[in-house]
Amino acid sequence: MKVLFALAEAFPFIKAGGLGDVGGSLPKALQSEEVETTVIMPRYSSIPHKLFKGCKCLGSFDIYLSWRKVEYKVLELYHEEVRYLFIENEFYFNREKLYGYEDDGERFAFFSLAVLEALGQISYQPDIIHCHDWHTSLIPLLLKEKYAGSEFHKSIKTVLTIHNLKHQGVVPGHYFDDVLGLSNHTNAFAKLEYYGNLNFFKGGILDADFLTTVSPSYALEITHPYYGETLDGVLRWRFKDLIGILNGIDKSKFDPRTDENIKVKYKSSYNKKMENKTWLQKSLGLPVDKNIPVIAFISRLVEQKGVDLINHIMEELLVHEVQVIILGTGEARYEEALRYFESKYHDKMRGMIMYDEAFAHQLYAGADILMMPSKFEPCGLSQMIAMSYGTIPVVRETGGLKDSVIPYNKYTGVGNGFSFANYNAHEFLFTLKEALRIYTDDKEGWNKVFKQALNTDFSWKKSAELYLQCYRNLVGI
Ligand code: ADP
Repeated sequence: MKVLFALAEAFPFIKAGGLGDVGGSLPKALQSEEVETTVIMPRYSSIPHKLFKGCKCLGSFDIYLSWRKVEYKVLELYHEEVRYLFIENEFYFNREKLYGYEDDGERFAFFSLAVLEALGQISYQPDIIHCHDWHTSLIPLLLKEKYAGSEFHKSIKTVLTIHNLKHQGVVPGHYFDDVLGLSNHTNAFAKLEYYGNLNFFKGGILDADFLTTVSPSYALEITHPYYGETLDGVLRWRFKDLIGILNGIDKSKFDPRTDENIKVKYKSSYNKKMENKTWLQKSLGLPVDKNIPVIAFISRLVEQKGVDLINHIMEELLVHEVQVIILGTGEARYEEALRYFESKYHDKMRGMIMYDEAFAHQLYAGADILMMPSKFEPCGLSQMIAMSYGTIPVVRETGGLKDSVIPYNKYTGVGNGFSFANYNAHEFLFTLKEALRIYTDDKEGWNKVFKQALNTDFSWKKSAELYLQCYRNLVGI
């Protein structure tokens, strides 16, 4: 079975968040005798040149965005035994950032069209195109409409995975003719139409042969208005073709036994973890004391991640003997709040406003607690990564957080973290305080949670098998 992953991010080439982690690890996890995976993604100019060593150009081609002729190249590269194809176009992908441009819709419409054209040009015919998020959600619709008469494309099936429904690719209505060149396809207009605009995700949800999302809880949540981001009705319509499969993490990249980024490698030794903690405290100029609990937050600084709850309780939390270290970039108002807290509580708090992969690993290894009070969380990888380093998550019970964190029960001793139900700042603070209480007063209990977190299996094994089952059903094996 040939499966083509069409997506916007894949680690180590480029990563803005969890999609990049999944893009870099799931194709590798699925590669087997039964499945041959290929990844296709844009060739952003910000991908380090050194990663393109040994890369081959498969050709230069043209496509039409409506009446405009656009040139692109297809590059090929093998990385960790997975074949990567890159679509190169200076105008769309030679930019400083990954996303956040006014023409993002046009950039990914171009990419989706280029993927389908490139397949014919390089004579590669996958059985399945596995699309991810809005960036490539036009592909199922284009296959059913624009390429309906193409012998080459006819048999290709599609899976669309929803990593985050918040971003949908909403563009003005005139894109229908001017960019997509779909003026003769009235059905396509109805599928894309969204309050007078076009919505790429909506089109993909309606036309993909099968839909998945990244946790069983999120699959249910998005069929309700609170989490459905206005597409809950469309998702209810397709509910029988939608399942939630929990993401895994790439154990070769997040393993304290082998991690080259951290100061002291460890397997299950709490003392060695504490050496990472004291090194972290020292390197950040915080009081060095292994008995002070270190609470970390590693995330994009956006509303989704519950930053408002953190800001709301920060001063009440810092009354206690704790250290809080936040690593993230994002909205200016949240970055500003970090600068404020750090300057006011310099002996207890650090706001590291940057994106730094190596430091993230050091923080996962050195912290005691990772907080993740998300407003919604399709899957969330940070809590799984944290647990792999024996760092205990304190999370809100939503989406993948609910599916991966078992709240610690002091009576039965079961659990690998702490959780609370409502999006409420003091419910969050109360749960954090309960975790801190166990940390300080119940060493035996903490040791249990530590061991249980470390031993939770977040490898891709189970989830890869579920994806495989979806592929088999689609191609009729
Ligand atoms: P999302 O995909 O919504 O951003 P996830 O929890 O699924 O959230 O994945 C976030 C990934 O990005 C994790 O690997 C996390 O460690 C990483 N990450 C987030 N912010 C930073 C940062 N500032 N520096 C380094 N890594 C980060």
